Amino acid sequence: MKIGILGAGISGLSIARLLNNQYDVEILEKASIHGGIARTRDVNGIAYHTIGGHCFNSKHKDVLDFVFDNILPITEWNRIKRKSRIKFHNYEIDYPIEFSIRQIFENDKDLAQRITVDFFKAIDNGTYDNLKDWFLKKFGDTLAYEYFIPYNKKIWNRLPEEMDYSWVEDKLPVPNQESFFRGLINKSEDNMAHFEFYYPKSNNQNTFIDALAKDIIIHYNYEIESVNYNQISKKWHINNDKIYDIIINTTPINRFIATISNVPIDVQEAAKKLKVNGISNVLWKTKDTDKTWTYLPDSKYLFHRYIHIGSFSDRPTGMQYLKL
Ligand SMILES: Cc1cc2nc3c(=O)[nH]c(=O)nc-3n(C[C@H](O)[C@H](O)[C@H](O)COP(=O)(O)OP(=O)(O)OC[C@H]3O[C@@H](n4cnc5c(N)ncnc54)[C@H](O)[C@@H]3O)c2cc1C
Repeated sequence: MKIGILGAGISGLSIARLLNNQYDVEILEKASIHGGIARTRDVNGIAYHTIGGHCFNSKHKDVLDFVFDNILPITEWNRIKRKSRIKFHNYEIDYPIEFSIRQIFENDKDLAQRITVDFFKAIDNGTYDNLKDWFLKKFGDTLAYEYFIPYNKKIWNRLPEEMDYSWVEDKLPVPNQESFFRGLINKSEDNMAHFEFYYPKSNNQNTFIDALAKDIIIHYNYEIESVNYNQISKKWHINNDKIYDIIINTTPINRFIATISNVPIDVQEAAKKLKVNGISNVLWKTKDTDKTWTYLPDSKYLFHRYIHIGSFSDRPTGMQYLKL
Protein backbone atom coordinates (compact mmCIF):
# COMPACT_ATOMS: atom_id res chain seq x y z
CA MET A 1 0.00 0.00 0.00
CA LYS A 2 1.33 3.43 -0.93
CA ILE A 3 0.70 6.27 1.51
CA GLY A 4 1.22 9.94 0.67
CA ILE A 5 1.70 12.27 3.60
CA LEU A 6 1.09 15.92 2.86
CA GLY A 7 3.42 18.23 4.80
CA ALA A 8 6.73 17.52 6.53
CA GLY A 9 6.18 19.32 9.83
CA ILE A 10 6.38 17.46 13.15
CA SER A 11 3.01 15.76 12.45
CA GLY A 12 3.88 14.52 8.95
CA LEU A 13 7.35 13.37 10.00
CA SER A 14 6.01 11.53 13.06
CA ILE A 15 3.29 9.73 11.08
CA ALA A 16 5.82 8.81 8.42
CA ARG A 17 8.18 7.34 11.04
CA LEU A 18 5.36 5.32 12.57
CA LEU A 19 4.22 3.90 9.21
CA ASN A 20 7.52 3.68 7.39
CA ASN A 21 8.37 0.09 8.35
CA GLN A 22 5.05 -1.37 7.28
CA TYR A 23 4.06 0.65 4.23
CA ASP A 24 5.44 2.41 1.21
CA VAL A 25 5.44 5.98 2.57
CA GLU A 26 6.53 9.33 1.18
CA ILE A 27 6.00 12.97 2.11
CA LEU A 28 5.20 15.90 -0.16
CA GLU A 29 6.50 19.18 1.24
CA LYS A 30 6.28 22.64 -0.32
CA ALA A 31 9.28 24.05 1.55
CA SER A 32 12.87 23.21 0.76
CA ILE A 33 13.34 21.74 4.25
CA HIS A 34 11.34 19.66 6.74
CA GLY A 35 10.20 20.68 10.24
CA GLY A 36 7.41 23.18 9.54
CA ILE A 37 6.76 25.78 12.21
CA ALA A 38 8.87 24.01 14.87
CA ARG A 39 12.09 24.35 12.83
CA THR A 40 14.80 26.78 13.89
CA ARG A 41 16.82 28.97 11.55
CA ASP A 42 20.51 29.60 12.02
CA VAL A 43 21.28 33.24 12.82
CA ASN A 44 25.01 33.76 13.34
CA GLY A 45 25.29 30.31 14.93
CA ILE A 46 22.21 30.75 17.11
CA ALA A 47 19.24 28.42 16.64
CA TYR A 48 16.42 30.92 16.24
CA HIS A 49 12.84 29.64 16.62
CA THR A 50 11.23 31.85 13.99
CA ILE A 51 7.67 30.87 14.99
CA GLY A 52 8.23 30.85 18.76
CA GLY A 53 10.19 28.66 21.18
CA HIS A 54 9.44 24.95 21.00
CA CYS A 55 10.29 22.37 23.63
CA PHE A 56 9.35 18.71 23.89
CA ASN A 57 7.24 16.93 26.47
CA SER A 58 4.32 14.54 26.67
CA LYS A 59 2.10 13.15 29.38
CA HIS A 60 1.78 9.98 27.28
CA LYS A 61 4.40 7.34 28.03
CA ASP A 62 4.12 5.80 24.54
CA VAL A 63 5.02 9.17 22.98
CA LEU A 64 8.07 9.56 25.26
CA ASP A 65 9.10 5.94 24.51
CA PHE A 66 8.67 6.48 20.76
CA VAL A 67 10.94 9.53 20.84
CA PHE A 68 13.59 8.28 23.26
CA ASP A 69 13.73 4.69 21.94
CA ASN A 70 13.43 5.35 18.20
CA ILE A 71 14.27 8.96 17.37
CA LEU A 72 16.70 10.68 19.74
CA PRO A 73 18.00 8.86 22.84
CA ILE A 74 17.29 10.39 26.22
CA THR A 75 21.03 10.96 26.70
CA GLU A 76 20.82 13.58 23.92
CA TRP A 77 18.25 15.68 25.78
CA ASN A 78 18.43 18.11 28.67
CA ARG A 79 15.60 17.69 31.14
CA ILE A 80 14.70 21.19 32.25
CA LYS A 81 12.63 22.26 35.19
CA ARG A 82 10.35 25.10 34.23
CA LYS A 83 11.14 28.33 36.02
CA SER A 84 8.67 30.68 34.47
CA ARG A 85 7.67 34.08 35.72
CA ILE A 86 4.90 36.58 35.13
CA LYS A 87 5.52 40.28 34.74
CA PHE A 88 2.52 41.42 36.74
CA HIS A 89 1.87 45.16 37.09
CA ASN A 90 5.35 46.56 37.85
CA TYR A 91 6.84 43.48 39.53
CA GLU A 92 7.57 39.82 38.74
CA ILE A 93 5.99 36.77 40.34
CA ASP A 94 6.30 33.02 39.82
CA TYR A 95 4.05 31.12 37.43
CA PRO A 96 1.38 29.87 38.05
CA ILE A 97 -0.15 33.05 39.44
CA GLU A 98 -2.76 31.30 41.57
CA PHE A 99 -0.01 29.89 43.78
CA SER A 100 1.90 33.17 43.98
CA ILE A 101 -0.60 35.24 45.93
CA ARG A 102 1.96 35.63 48.72
CA GLN A 103 4.30 37.32 46.23
CA ILE A 104 1.50 39.63 45.08
CA PHE A 105 0.81 40.41 48.76
CA GLU A 106 4.43 41.56 49.20
CA ASN A 107 3.86 44.10 46.42
CA ASP A 108 0.18 44.97 46.64
CA LYS A 109 -1.69 43.88 49.80
CA ASP A 110 -5.07 45.14 48.64
CA LEU A 111 -4.94 43.27 45.32
CA ALA A 112 -3.83 40.03 47.01
CA GLN A 113 -6.74 40.29 49.44
CA ARG A 114 -9.26 40.94 46.66
CA ILE A 115 -7.91 37.96 44.66
CA THR A 116 -8.24 35.71 47.73
CA VAL A 117 -11.74 36.85 48.73
CA ASP A 118 -13.00 36.50 45.14
CA PHE A 119 -11.40 33.09 44.70
CA PHE A 120 -13.28 31.71 47.70
CA LYS A 121 -16.48 33.53 46.67
CA ALA A 122 -16.48 32.08 43.15
CA ILE A 123 -19.16 29.46 42.55
CA ASP A 124 -18.10 26.74 40.14
CA ASN A 125 -21.31 24.95 39.18
CA GLY A 126 -19.57 22.90 36.47
CA THR A 127 -21.33 24.58 33.53
CA TYR A 128 -19.67 27.36 31.54
CA ASP A 129 -20.96 29.56 28.73
CA ASN A 130 -17.54 30.30 27.29
CA LEU A 131 -13.86 30.75 28.22
CA LYS A 132 -14.45 34.01 30.11
CA ASP A 133 -17.17 32.37 32.18
CA TRP A 134 -14.78 29.45 32.87
CA PHE A 135 -12.07 31.82 34.17
CA LEU A 136 -14.58 33.68 36.37
CA LYS A 137 -15.99 30.50 37.89
CA LYS A 138 -12.62 28.76 38.39
CA PHE A 139 -10.55 31.70 39.67
CA GLY A 140 -12.97 34.40 40.83
CA ASP A 141 -13.49 37.89 39.40
CA THR A 142 -10.23 39.62 40.37
CA LEU A 143 -7.79 36.96 39.14
CA ALA A 144 -9.87 36.50 35.99
CA TYR A 145 -9.99 40.23 35.15
CA GLU A 146 -6.44 41.02 36.28
CA TYR A 147 -4.69 38.14 34.55
CA PHE A 148 -6.51 35.35 32.70
CA ILE A 149 -8.86 37.42 30.56
CA PRO A 150 -6.30 40.04 29.37
CA TYR A 151 -3.59 37.43 28.78
CA ASN A 152 -5.83 35.16 26.73
CA LYS A 153 -7.29 38.08 24.80
CA LYS A 154 -3.75 38.96 23.86
CA ILE A 155 -2.50 35.55 22.77
CA TRP A 156 -5.60 34.51 20.86
CA ASN A 157 -6.41 37.98 19.51
CA ARG A 158 -10.01 37.26 20.38
CA LEU A 159 -12.33 37.95 23.30
CA PRO A 160 -12.50 35.01 25.74
CA GLU A 161 -16.31 35.34 25.76
CA GLU A 162 -16.22 34.37 22.06
CA MET A 163 -14.14 31.25 22.74
CA ASP A 164 -14.86 27.72 23.81
CA TYR A 165 -13.39 26.59 27.14
CA SER A 166 -13.02 22.83 26.56
CA TRP A 167 -9.42 22.98 25.28
CA VAL A 168 -8.12 24.81 28.34
CA GLU A 169 -9.17 22.34 31.02
CA ASP A 170 -6.19 20.06 30.55
CA LYS A 171 -3.69 22.84 29.91
CA LEU A 172 -3.93 25.12 32.92
CA PRO A 173 -3.18 24.44 36.56
CA VAL A 174 -6.53 24.93 38.30
CA PRO A 175 -6.46 25.12 42.10
CA ASN A 176 -9.22 23.88 44.33
CA GLN A 177 -9.93 25.68 47.60
CA GLU A 178 -7.49 23.48 49.53
CA SER A 179 -4.55 23.87 47.13
CA PHE A 180 -5.20 27.62 46.83
CA PHE A 181 -5.17 27.88 50.63
CA ARG A 182 -1.93 25.86 50.82
CA GLY A 183 -0.43 28.31 48.34
CA LEU A 184 -1.29 31.14 50.72
CA ILE A 185 0.51 29.62 53.69
CA ASN A 186 3.36 27.72 51.97
CA LYS A 187 5.56 28.22 48.96
CA SER A 188 3.82 25.87 46.50
CA GLU A 189 5.82 23.67 44.19
CA ASP A 190 5.18 24.06 40.47
CA ASN A 191 4.40 20.48 39.52
CA MET A 192 1.62 21.21 37.06
CA ALA A 193 1.46 20.21 33.39
CA HIS A 194 4.83 20.76 31.67
CA PHE A 195 6.64 21.71 34.87
CA GLU A 196 9.50 19.81 33.26
CA PHE A 197 10.33 19.53 29.59
CA TYR A 198 13.06 18.37 27.22
CA TYR A 199 15.32 20.32 24.89
CA PRO A 200 18.14 18.80 22.79
CA LYS A 201 21.62 19.03 24.33
CA SER A 202 22.79 20.45 21.00
CA ASN A 203 20.81 23.57 22.00
CA ASN A 204 18.93 23.33 18.71
CA GLN A 205 15.47 21.80 18.26
CA ASN A 206 16.46 20.85 14.71
CA THR A 207 18.54 17.98 16.14
CA PHE A 208 15.25 16.32 17.08
CA ILE A 209 13.50 17.31 13.85
CA ASP A 210 16.35 16.02 11.67
CA ALA A 211 16.44 12.75 13.64
CA LEU A 212 12.70 12.39 13.01
CA ALA A 213 13.18 12.91 9.26
CA LYS A 214 15.89 10.23 9.01
CA ASP A 215 15.24 7.57 6.32
CA ILE A 216 11.95 9.18 5.20
CA ILE A 217 11.41 9.87 1.51
CA ILE A 218 10.52 13.56 1.26
CA HIS A 219 9.82 15.40 -1.99
CA TYR A 220 10.82 18.98 -1.21
CA ASN A 221 9.64 22.09 -3.07
CA TYR A 222 6.48 20.18 -3.91
CA GLU A 223 3.36 22.26 -3.35
CA ILE A 224 0.01 20.46 -3.24
CA GLU A 225 -2.31 22.32 -5.60
CA SER A 226 -4.94 19.74 -6.49
CA VAL A 227 -6.26 16.58 -4.85
CA ASN A 228 -8.60 14.21 -6.71
CA TYR A 229 -10.05 10.85 -5.76
CA ASN A 230 -10.53 8.50 -8.71
CA GLN A 231 -13.68 6.45 -8.07
CA ILE A 232 -12.68 3.75 -10.55
CA SER A 233 -9.10 3.10 -9.48
CA LYS A 234 -9.90 4.04 -5.83
CA LYS A 235 -6.68 6.06 -5.73
CA TRP A 236 -5.78 9.61 -4.75
CA HIS A 237 -4.13 11.80 -7.38
CA ILE A 238 -2.02 14.76 -6.24
CA ASN A 239 -1.37 17.53 -8.80
CA ASN A 240 -2.33 14.93 -11.50
CA ASP A 241 1.15 13.63 -10.87
CA LYS A 242 1.53 11.40 -7.80
CA ILE A 243 -0.86 8.52 -6.98
CA TYR A 244 -1.56 6.99 -3.55
CA ASP A 245 -3.89 4.45 -1.96
CA ILE A 246 -4.19 6.66 1.11
CA ILE A 247 -3.28 10.26 1.77
CA ILE A 248 -2.80 11.86 5.19
CA ASN A 249 -2.97 15.61 5.29
CA THR A 250 -1.02 17.66 7.83
CA THR A 251 -0.99 20.95 5.90
CA PRO A 252 -3.23 23.81 7.09
CA ILE A 253 -6.83 22.63 6.71
CA ASN A 254 -8.24 26.03 5.67
CA ARG A 255 -6.15 26.04 2.50
CA PHE A 256 -6.11 22.28 1.96
CA ILE A 257 -9.91 22.06 1.55
CA ALA A 258 -9.72 24.38 -1.47
CA THR A 259 -7.38 21.97 -3.28
CA ILE A 260 -9.76 18.98 -3.09
CA SER A 261 -12.21 18.47 -5.93
CA ASN A 262 -15.96 18.09 -5.26
CA VAL A 263 -15.93 19.44 -1.71
CA PRO A 264 -19.49 20.43 -0.64
CA ILE A 265 -20.01 24.21 -0.60
CA ASP A 266 -20.81 24.34 3.13
CA VAL A 267 -17.51 22.61 3.94
CA GLN A 268 -15.63 25.05 1.70
CA GLU A 269 -17.34 27.99 3.40
CA ALA A 270 -16.63 26.60 6.88
CA ALA A 271 -12.93 26.15 6.00
CA LYS A 272 -12.69 29.77 4.80
CA LYS A 273 -14.06 30.97 8.13
CA LEU A 274 -11.34 29.29 10.20
CA LYS A 275 -9.41 32.01 12.02
CA VAL A 276 -5.64 32.18 11.70
CA ASN A 277 -3.34 34.30 13.85
CA GLY A 278 0.12 35.26 12.66
CA ILE A 279 3.10 35.20 15.01
CA SER A 280 6.10 37.51 15.03
CA ASN A 281 9.29 37.00 16.98
CA VAL A 282 12.32 39.06 17.82
CA LEU A 283 15.70 37.63 18.77
CA TRP A 284 18.17 39.53 20.87
CA LYS A 285 20.97 39.03 23.31
CA THR A 286 20.42 39.76 26.98
CA LYS A 287 22.04 39.06 30.33
CA ASP A 288 22.15 35.39 31.37
CA THR A 289 19.20 34.15 33.38
CA ASP A 290 18.00 30.87 34.85
CA LYS A 291 14.39 31.72 33.96
CA THR A 292 12.81 29.63 31.20
CA TRP A 293 10.20 32.13 30.06
CA THR A 294 8.26 35.17 31.27
CA TYR A 295 4.60 35.95 30.55
CA LEU A 296 3.38 39.51 30.02
CA PRO A 297 -0.42 39.74 30.43
CA ASP A 298 -0.55 43.54 30.40
CA SER A 299 -2.10 44.92 27.20
CA LYS A 300 0.34 47.85 27.24
CA TYR A 301 3.04 45.41 25.99
CA LEU A 302 2.55 44.30 22.40
CA PHE A 303 4.34 40.99 23.00
CA HIS A 304 3.09 38.30 25.35
CA ARG A 305 6.16 36.26 26.28
CA TYR A 306 9.94 36.31 26.48
CA ILE A 307 11.51 32.90 26.02
CA HIS A 308 14.99 32.48 27.46
CA ILE A 309 16.10 29.67 25.16
CA GLY A 310 19.70 30.23 26.18
CA SER A 311 18.91 28.77 29.61
CA PHE A 312 17.65 25.49 28.09
CA SER A 313 21.17 24.25 27.56
CA ASP A 314 24.30 23.45 29.58
CA ARG A 315 26.03 26.16 27.59
CA PRO A 316 24.59 29.47 28.73
CA THR A 317 24.39 31.75 25.75
CA GLY A 318 22.33 34.54 27.23
CA MET A 319 20.16 34.55 24.15
CA GLN A 320 16.54 35.40 24.65
CA TYR A 321 13.54 35.37 22.41
CA LEU A 322 10.91 38.00 22.59
CA LYS A 323 7.70 36.78 21.03
CA LEU A 324 5.54 39.54 19.62
C1 LIG B 1 4.42 29.92 19.20
C2 LIG B 1 4.21 28.45 19.28
C3 LIG B 1 4.88 27.73 20.26
C4 LIG B 1 4.68 26.37 20.36
N1 LIG B 1 5.38 25.66 21.29
C5 LIG B 1 5.27 24.33 21.32
C6 LIG B 1 6.06 23.57 22.22
O1 LIG B 1 6.86 24.10 22.98
N2 LIG B 1 5.93 22.22 22.22
C7 LIG B 1 5.04 21.59 21.37
O2 LIG B 1 4.94 20.35 21.42
N3 LIG B 1 4.28 22.28 20.50
C8 LIG B 1 4.38 23.62 20.46
N4 LIG B 1 3.63 24.33 19.57
C9 LIG B 1 2.72 23.59 18.68
C10 LIG B 1 3.52 22.99 17.53
O3 LIG B 1 4.25 24.00 16.87
C11 LIG B 1 2.62 22.38 16.50
O4 LIG B 1 1.68 21.53 17.11
C12 LIG B 1 3.40 21.57 15.46
O5 LIG B 1 4.64 22.16 15.13
C13 LIG B 1 2.55 21.47 14.26
O6 LIG B 1 3.21 20.65 13.34
P1 LIG B 1 2.47 20.22 12.03
O7 LIG B 1 3.35 19.26 11.34
O8 LIG B 1 1.09 19.76 12.36
O9 LIG B 1 2.26 21.57 11.20
P2 LIG B 1 3.36 22.48 10.49
O10 LIG B 1 4.59 22.62 11.29
O11 LIG B 1 2.62 23.73 10.11
O12 LIG B 1 3.72 21.66 9.18
C14 LIG B 1 2.93 21.67 8.03
C15 LIG B 1 3.85 21.45 6.86
O13 LIG B 1 3.06 21.45 5.68
C16 LIG B 1 3.75 22.18 4.68
N5 LIG B 1 2.75 22.68 3.71
C17 LIG B 1 1.83 23.65 3.90
N6 LIG B 1 1.10 23.82 2.78
C18 LIG B 1 1.56 22.93 1.87
C19 LIG B 1 1.20 22.60 0.53
N7 LIG B 1 0.20 23.23 -0.11
N8 LIG B 1 1.89 21.65 -0.09
C20 LIG B 1 2.90 20.97 0.54
N9 LIG B 1 3.28 21.23 1.80
C21 LIG B 1 2.62 22.20 2.47
C22 LIG B 1 4.45 23.30 5.45
O14 LIG B 1 5.55 23.83 4.69
C23 LIG B 1 4.89 22.56 6.69
O15 LIG B 1 6.18 21.99 6.56
C24 LIG B 1 3.79 25.70 19.47
C25 LIG B 1 3.11 26.43 18.48
C26 LIG B 1 3.33 27.79 18.39
C27 LIG B 1 2.60 28.55 17.32
